[in-house]
Amino acid sequence: MNEFRFSRADSLAQAVQAGAKSPTAQLGATVRFVAGGTNLVDLMKLQVEHPEQVVDINNLPLGKVERLPDGGLRIGALVRNSDLAHDPNVVRDYPVLSQALLSGASPQLRNMATTSGNLLQRTRCVYFRDVAHECNKRNPGSGCAAMDGYHRTLAILGTSDSCIATNPSDMNVALTALEATIHIRGVKGERSVAINDFYLLPGSTPNRETVLEPGDLITSVTLPKPTPGTHSVYVKLRDREAYEFALASAAVVAQVDGATIRHVRVALGGVGTKPWRSPEAEQALVGKPVRAESFRAAAEAALQNARPRTGNAFKVELSKRCLVRALTLATTQS
Ligand SMILES: Cc1cc2nc3c(=O)[nH]c(=O)nc-3n(C[C@H](O)[C@H](O)[C@H](O)COP(=O)(O)OP(=O)(O)OC[C@H]3O[C@@H](n4cnc5c(N)ncnc54)[C@H](O)[C@@H]3O)c2cc1C
Ligand code: SF4
Repeated sequence: MNEFRFSRADSLAQAVQAGAKSPTAQLGATVRFVAGGTNLVDLMKLQVEHPEQVVDINNLPLGKVERLPDGGLRIGALVRNSDLAHDPNVVRDYPVLSQALLSGASPQLRNMATTSGNLLQRTRCVYFRDVAHECNKRNPGSGCAAMDGYHRTLAILGTSDSCIATNPSDMNVALTALEATIHIRGVKGERSVAINDFYLLPGSTPNRETVLEPGDLITSVTLPKPTPGTHSVYVKLRDREAYEFALASAAVVAQVDGATIRHVRVALGGVGTKPWRSPEAEQALVGKPVRAESFRAAAEAALQNARPRTGNAFKVELSKRCLVRALTLATTQS
């Protein structure tokens, strides 16, 4: 690990000021906030991240889950993944989020990992994490070792000729289906960004992963009031039952009226370069009967633009089956 200065922020303004000294918020950031540290410290040890200054934000008052007057929920940036997964409001009103969190990592990691750190965790592409290999995300213009290398776990949706890295988070998939909003404090004040607009597609600049600018501090995530009568579910498929990232996952929020689907939100994980909302699947489902044919048609629509490579072509069918399973579970709960 390179040498770095360590400081602690005691106010939001102090954190933002410290972060703003970095020329970039992403690749090459010279100042990094640390929350749980379970991703940042790993990457510092691997020499992938080498900030000059690390700012501990754990003293900031961002650790609460609160009901909002409009019936929604505010989740502080520093709420630990374990606490969020077991929060009674989340378990009752947003079970998809609780299930997604509990499917990730291990109990020890979830006790440390935070909401904001999980939102910003970096890809698990093996070449990104190994500085001996070329990687456009880590070193722009150097090439992409994954294209013709090991890409079994990588993305088939939203890819580009520069990068096919997957967004690894389970929580982000659930938050996307729940249409979460991310609240940010930066040098110019506060702003809010819909989660679907927060992550960027890799295009020719995979080093830029989000809309964050230097100094931007995530302060909270809000969820809209749950639509009455909706059920939600998270299904994750992976190589082993625990301590493993998704090969394919699906988050579904659905409302059924009689035997007809009235409202549905669909997001896919393990297959996209960002948490993958599928308006194609949603359009294919609204007004359709609750039956296997409707679910399969939605899955076909969701994956119609998939661009697999030889090593991850199996993910096309896996992702479809995963979505069919999630839709079946979400629409047959009473
Ligand atoms: C062995 C292992 C298995 C795992 N398995 C899974 C899994 O199956 N599913 C899954 O989803 N995840 C998994 N994870 C990832 C884990 O969920 C993340 O490491 C964790 O969520 C990161 O949170 P953190 O608070 O520790 O982040 P940190 O490491 O503290 O920070 C991560 C990044 O976020 C930035 N950051 C943090 N807070 C803020 C803020 N408020 N504003 C702006 N920037 C901020 C940091 O600067 C850093 O760049 C696994 C991790 C490990 C090590
Ligand atoms: S897929 Fe992306 S992260 Fe992986 S080596 Fe290629 S450029 Fe780097």
